[in-house]
Amino acid sequence: MQALSKRTQLIKKKSLFISCIVPVYNEQELIVKFISVLKTTLKQLTKNFEIIIVDDGSSDNTHNLITKLCKNKNIKALCFSRNFGKENALTAGLAYCAGDVAILIDSDFQHPIKLIYEFITKWVEGYSIVYGIQKNRQIKNPIRIYFTRLFYYLIKKISRVKIPANACDFRLLDRKVIDALNRLKERNRFMKGLYAWVGFKSIGIPFNVADRKAGKSSWNLFKLTELAITGITSFSNIPLKLLSVGGLLISGFAALCAIYIVFKTLIMGIVVPGYATILVSIIFFGGIQLFSIGIVGEYIARIFTEVKKRPNYIIEEQHGFTQKML
Ligand code: UDP
Ligand code: MG
Repeated sequence: MQALSKRTQLIKKKSLFISCIVPVYNEQELIVKFISVLKTTLKQLTKNFEIIIVDDGSSDNTHNLITKLCKNKNIKALCFSRNFGKENALTAGLAYCAGDVAILIDSDFQHPIKLIYEFITKWVEGYSIVYGIQKNRQIKNPIRIYFTRLFYYLIKKISRVKIPANACDFRLLDRKVIDALNRLKERNRFMKGLYAWVGFKSIGIPFNVADRKAGKSSWNLFKLTELAITGITSFSNIPLKLLSVGGLLISGFAALCAIYIVFKTLIMGIVVPGYATILVSIIFFGGIQLFSIGIVGEYIARIFTEVKKRPNYIIEEQHGFTQKML
């Protein structure tokens, strides 16, 4: 109750410290306009805000534009030494933001900036995480639609952490949540899973995803599949358990077949063996074994990345921060 009235007071006095984290990769057409609109929106909410642009190793003119933008008050930037991916850009922003709340938002106008008002209203009502739910996902590729559905279906079935379907990175996080997320040091980062894993009182707000104003999406089917596998392997061991159960069932079946064959041979003598049956079973079980090794391999590859303990990103340049970032 006390915390709630404190939240209301901060809004009334316009003194809530909002950190906006904007991951950016090759967005030269949009970045200047986007930051200007975002700044205007934030100014209406509070006197106290920072916009942290995370340049995820852009190779076009984005970096120069960001450097110029940082001459303005309240605008800061972290520039990576190469492209480390959106999940790591968000991770860096969260590590270095100082706000009472953080708002994560894409820089291509697909996330409606005005929704921030609703996020803040929900935060005042006592929610610690307020996330956008994409009502009309802008997915045109039918294969991608099918795999997205399959991914959410699987993750719902096999993960103990409840990851809401179609929730996106566009969200507000309270300081408690930011601190909790900053304690998670894993390398294979599936942010949507991590937000759900830390817990806290959360609510989703449905919104219509706008069309990208310019430029093109950096995600392709390969990158998305990689992220989906990270999502599943980071939040569930069930694929491994299924392998053990599957292996056991197949061995049981094989034992029954063996008994059957022994008895058949004892009773009927040796009959001409079925060439096709043997070939098919060898190929079938060979396939199952390779597939199983593949699944185990996915886990091992991720353990390998974790034990190397390489940092999630390298910051080459920083603008607008007082202390030195690593
Ligand atoms: N982005 C990033 N690093 C990447 C890919 C994308 O920081 O490797 C940023 C991008 O600039 C945008 C946001 O993440 O602000 C969402 O990317 P995009 O629009 O390509 O994804 P989609 O909207 O298609 O999911
Ligand atoms: Mg986009």
